[in-house]
Amino acid sequence: MLWLPALAAAAGVPAGPARVGTDVLLLGAATAERTPQRACSADVLARHQQVLAVPAPAQGWSGEPQAVDVFGVLSGEVRISHGDRQICGSMHDARTRDSRFRAGVGMVVVPKAGEHEPIVVSWATPLKPRWIPTVQLGAPSPVQQNDTARLLVRAACIAVAIALALSALIGYVTAKDRSFLIYVGVCLLFVLWQAVLGGLSGYPEPWLPVDDRSSWWLVALSAFTEAMLLPVLWRLNGGDRLWPGSRAAQQAVLWGLVAVGLCVPWMGLAALTWWAAALEDLYLLGCVVCLGVGVWALARRDRYALAGLSALAPWWIMIIADALHAQWLVAYRIETLQLAATWFLMMSAYALNLRLGRLRQQRDEMRQLADTDALTGLPNRRAGLRLLAQYLERARQDDQPLAIGFLDIDLFKDINDQYGHEVGDQVLVAVARNLRDSVRNRDDVIRMGGEEFLVLLPGASRGSALARLESVRLQVQAVTAILAIPGLNVSASIGLAAMRGDGDDLTSLLRRADHAMYCAKRAGRNQVYDAEQAVPAGDPMTV
Ligand code: GH3
Ligand code: MG
Ligand code: MG
Repeated sequence: MLWLPALAAAAGVPAGPARVGTDVLLLGAATAERTPQRACSADVLARHQQVLAVPAPAQGWSGEPQAVDVFGVLSGEVRISHGDRQICGSMHDARTRDSRFRAGVGMVVVPKAGEHEPIVVSWATPLKPRWIPTVQLGAPSPVQQNDTARLLVRAACIAVAIALALSALIGYVTAKDRSFLIYVGVCLLFVLWQAVLGGLSGYPEPWLPVDDRSSWWLVALSAFTEAMLLPVLWRLNGGDRLWPGSRAAQQAVLWGLVAVGLCVPWMGLAALTWWAAALEDLYLLGCVVCLGVGVWALARRDRYALAGLSALAPWWIMIIADALHAQWLVAYRIETLQLAATWFLMMSAYALNLRLGRLRQQRDEMRQLADTDALTGLPNRRAGLRLLAQYLERARQDDQPLAIGFLDIDLFKDINDQYGHEVGDQVLVAVARNLRDSVRNRDDVIRMGGEEFLVLLPGASRGSALARLESVRLQVQAVTAILAIPGLNVSASIGLAAMRGDGDDLTSLLRRADHAMYCAKRAGRNQVYDAEQAVPAGDPMTV
């Protein structure tokens, strides 16, 4: 390590005391104040019906520091005391807690060796009977590690919900689908619920006015989240698809729960406790019903119900663990609830994207149907004109040539009359197939209606278009041999129009091609006629 000062000197860093601002940044200033801690008010202590005296070991305290951390006191304050040292803190105000503990309300005491005085923890009766507090005791370092791990899980769940909300917002901006916005709202509601549940609403400083009204917030947010959760679980499990008429019932549950949430400020403690239990029972009932619906839907081959059943899975694990009085659930209830909520949000995002994918597929299929001619499978007039408009635009921009051929089957009415409509249809299908094979891009042949077709020739000058339409004409004639119906002769007359300079729009191009086609008819049919030429191109007699 002798080379280090030499290296520092070479780099121009002076050895010795660090200069504040240049070598080191020093924030804050020395204080004479004690860390602000809320005094345990008599009013608060009067409400502490529950007391735990953590006894000293039989031989007395060891003299080593003892950390006590209390988790899961969702409403009211916790008091930890030993001798004349005491701390009063709430889950919803990090400023009232020991600086070492963030997920719980904790304190480190150093009882004298051999002393027997217990550490006393007291709190108010929990809002929900099952949500009993956990008191963790031990050396400061492992207790702090446990506290930090809990805090990380709680913060991570909130971060995931925020990330999902942001990604749904991006989804809304791109897809303009309202369900993305509803999903953003659900995520934000869950963020609030998790912040209050996990005490992060008070960290680093209270950013929600929860402290004295934590029971209100918990009951109101439970009602609001349940209002979202139950209808979504119902839909995810296929309830909507099995009973489309259930929408009214869903709306009733949703608005009923929202009303309960809104009435919370006028509820006394007894009503709050009653509603807290009722909401939990309603949720349990909802889970049972949704499970039944999901299994029923799955039995009826509704594979989308799998998303709903998996969204329910963590809640079921919790319900079963509760029934078995599992200790891990009591100790880590907040983290488990948050993880279950995160899982639910992720499954909902998955189902939302799945639904959107399905809608997009349906829309594409509808568009495909709307743009396709049912008999020949060629693009129809609507799609064809749209494509021609695009080609025209591009040809003008790139200064490239463009030509079109308007094709009409000769004496087609006679074919129908002589051989019947079925044969007429066969001719149309065979002509369409041959035409499609004679162009580079399959979409460049369009059935305009009846026995009329349009051939688009982007990039073709008039000369090359004439040659290509001549081969198209021969392809139509080839149908005669393909169908091989005695006496049936298939041919077509084609009018060619090439794009002129500026001022030539789609309508005039089509009109000229149509006119040229009629000229070809008048000139004796089965030929290509160039709109710019006075004489038919090609000699029909030679074909
Ligand atoms: P020209 O050589 O002058 O074009 O004579 P043409 O008989 O082909 O012309 P016209 O327009 O008189 O006849 C077109 C016929 O095409 C009339 C209509 O019944 C028939 N047609 C239109 N669509 C279909 C179809 O989808 N299937 C069948 N089989 N016939 C159709
Ligand atoms: Mg016609
Ligand atoms: Mg015709």
